[in-house]
Parts: sequence; structure tokens; C-alpha cells
Amino acid sequence: MSKVLIAEDNAVNRELLRELLEARGYTVVEACDGQAALHMIEQTQPDLLLLDIGMPVMDGFGVMRKIRENPRLATLPVLAVTAYAMQGDREKILNSGFNGYLSKPVNARSLAQELDRLLIKQEGPSTSPDQSRESQLDTRTRAAGKGK
Ligand code: MN
Repeated sequence: MSKVLIAEDNAVNRELLRELLEARGYTVVEACDGQAALHMIEQTQPDLLLLDIGMPVMDGFGVMRKIRENPRLATLPVLAVTAYAMQGDREKILNSGFNGYLSKPVNARSLAQELDRLLIKQEGPSTSPDQSRESQLDTRTRAAGKGK
């Protein structure tokens, strides 16, 4: 199961994102400012980070710089979540090392699409792990049947 860290200073937005993620089966951890986000990345090793741009202590761009400076975190997928609607922000975000961009209020379908796109590599082809697990279960079930 994939773990997603929500870094967002607004409690209502955090709760909304948590509900959307938990409804899709993700494990959720939270941070409410940029420094806390970096701490939580180290503590909880999320598979993906949803990163608000406007946050106290350290903004999303500052967090992003720290992440990409760290060789262990260089490949962590990070989605910007921002209300900034100014022209050029999308480019600035994508040029800062983010893997994608979600506008507030976050649309459930856009979020799902971005998570599928960014987490699919880590989880491998969606069919093969399940198939091998199923066949293991089959073998065990058959073995149990023979024993009877
Ligand atoms: Mn904010």
C-alpha cells in the first residue's frame, strides 16, 4: 500500500485531501509547514508527497529544493498543490523539480490520475504481483485440500 504525505498549512484542505486519499486506499501522513514536511519525509518515508506552495516556515519551493538536493530523495514523486493562479506559476513549478501540479480546490479525478501516473512505476505492472500472489494462494489451497 502506498503512503502519501500531505504537506499543507490549511487544516480544512489537509482534511479534504486525507479523505480523498483514504477513500482510494492510500495511507496518509500529514505536515503543516515546510520544515515539518522535511522531518516527516525522513520519519515516515512516503511514496509520494503532496506539497502546498504557500506554507509558513518554509514554502513549497524551499522544500522542493531540499528534497532534490538530497540524493536519497531525488526520485521521490512530488505533486504541487496550489491556489496560485498567476500566469507562469505552472512553468515555475514544473521547472523546480515537481512531478506535477494540482490546482485548488483539488479535483478528485485529477488527484487520482496523477497518483496513478506517478505511483505505477514503484508498484510495477499492476497485474503481475497480484497474479503471483494468487497462484501462491492457489498452491496452498490445493495443498491443504490434498491433506484432507
Ligand atoms: Mn498554504
